[in-house]
Amino acid sequence: MQDAPLLIRDILRHGQQVHGDSSVVTVEAGGHRTATFNEVATRTEKLAAALTRLGVEAGDRVGTFAWNNQGHLEAYLGVPSMGAVLHTLNIRLPADQLSYVINHAEDRVIIVDASLIPLLAAIRDELKTVETIVVAGEGDTSGLGDTLSYERLLAAEEPGFDWPDLDERSAAAMCYTSGTTGHPKGVVYSHRSTWLHTMAEQASSSVGMTENDRILIIVPMFHANAWGTPYGAWMAGTDMIMPQMFLMGEQLAAVINEHHPTLSCGVPTIWNGLLALDTPIDFSTVRAITAGGAAVPQSLIEAFEERFGVTIVQGWGMTETSPLAAFGLPPARRRDGHDAMYYKVKAGRVVPGVEVRVVAEDGTVLPNDGTSVGEFEIRGPWVTGAYYKDEDPQKFHDGWLRTGDVGSLDPQGYMTISDRTKDVIKSGGEWISSVELENAVMSHPDVFEAAVIAVPDPKWSERPLVAVVPRPGRSPAPGDLVAYLTDRVPRWWLPEQWTFVGEIPKTSVGKFDKKVMRAEFADGAYEVQHATPPR
Ligand code: ADP
Repeated sequence: MQDAPLLIRDILRHGQQVHGDSSVVTVEAGGHRTATFNEVATRTEKLAAALTRLGVEAGDRVGTFAWNNQGHLEAYLGVPSMGAVLHTLNIRLPADQLSYVINHAEDRVIIVDASLIPLLAAIRDELKTVETIVVAGEGDTSGLGDTLSYERLLAAEEPGFDWPDLDERSAAAMCYTSGTTGHPKGVVYSHRSTWLHTMAEQASSSVGMTENDRILIIVPMFHANAWGTPYGAWMAGTDMIMPQMFLMGEQLAAVINEHHPTLSCGVPTIWNGLLALDTPIDFSTVRAITAGGAAVPQSLIEAFEERFGVTIVQGWGMTETSPLAAFGLPPARRRDGHDAMYYKVKAGRVVPGVEVRVVAEDGTVLPNDGTSVGEFEIRGPWVTGAYYKDEDPQKFHDGWLRTGDVGSLDPQGYMTISDRTKDVIKSGGEWISSVELENAVMSHPDVFEAAVIAVPDPKWSERPLVAVVPRPGRSPAPGDLVAYLTDRVPRWWLPEQWTFVGEIPKTSVGKFDKKVMRAEFADGAYEVQHATPPR
């Protein structure tokens, strides 16, 4: 066979040549703007020419500090194709972490959306390697010192860029983990890993985007590559709807009503937020929603099916795994007579190309029997083999990445995630799954959200504390919730300690932030109510 390198340049060319008429819609205040793939590709060529004129060379890092929009897509396509490295910066990182990741990656150029200038200006003085800041859109740039205008840079260039031949194993992009577990760590994707991941994503056994689809990309492009959807959609000719900052419930409902997506993707909190609205939402065109990044509660999947007739498919992955590694379509042949929901609540089924195994604390590999519980380890061509300039041997084991996720794998390749290693509740020598307990509590009709953390206990070492956000106008009592849980979880899991809060703290990407919750508990910020479960 011929040996052609797998390059993002060729993803770009394919979409440009074959799907030139597909479109990218960017939502704006009071309207939207649309561009065809052809137009986007031409602007991408001009972006590469402009960056070259600015002195950007192969291997240089170009940061993006941007919402999901057309310009961000141009950077996704153009920066790697010219041989530079796209570094997507998380706009919600705390200032100290943001300057840390920019300095650590040694970004030379940052492309920033005008609406985000203040966040970048606040740390401008800390940035040691950034020579040029390019501003997309109009805004007061004074806090940033010298800047260049994205549009003016592009206007000065001609279409047609001579894309270089690159080594498929060279760096294409990088993303730092959002730091739920300490300071952020960089993951560097290669052209090859991105290409293979894009193929996996396009497969009909996973997201399966086609030219007939319109995907509303809610998961941020600065978070784990928007789960790879921009490249997948570009390769497949899928129209993209980019919501920018219009992500609050009502705004998102308006975007769905106006732009009729067939697919969408986002963390569970986004979908839960839509459920709480009274506004009518027209989901009639939506054939599937991918949710992941955190456990998707059964109550959420059921509510979407019942209220909107929409299937939520769960995916599992990490920044370290590009991220798609498992996708939860139920199997055609269901063993043991389980219904489809049994599979939908699992994290997903391992996608072809990656291997997953379950490993006990002593390092032994456990059987894929659906019941043996241990830490998931993963390997494959789009799984990171190291962190960028950050030795962390603990995270690797015989060439496998240790995921920090705990659970079991069944014989058909479905993963059940019961916890993250740092969140499990060790009670009397046994493990209580905080995720399962949360899901059970969240299925109660009076509960909007619930998160469970381990708190110290003199007798059992740790016990669960449940933080509950009640639905508006409801005030469930701990005793009622315990009674409700009695048939749903093992008796010894039944929580004695409850607290009722206005909201659950969330990370920069919208997941329950249990690190913050543990600190709040330790500071005495929770008013704890007690229940006496039946034993
Ligand atoms: P962070 O560690 O900052 O949250 P990532 O965004 O890379 O970084 O998140 C990866 C983690 O998200 C996984 O290790 C896992 O704990 C969690 N996760 C992703 N998908 C799921 C899912 N479907 N069910 C449960 N947890 C999930």
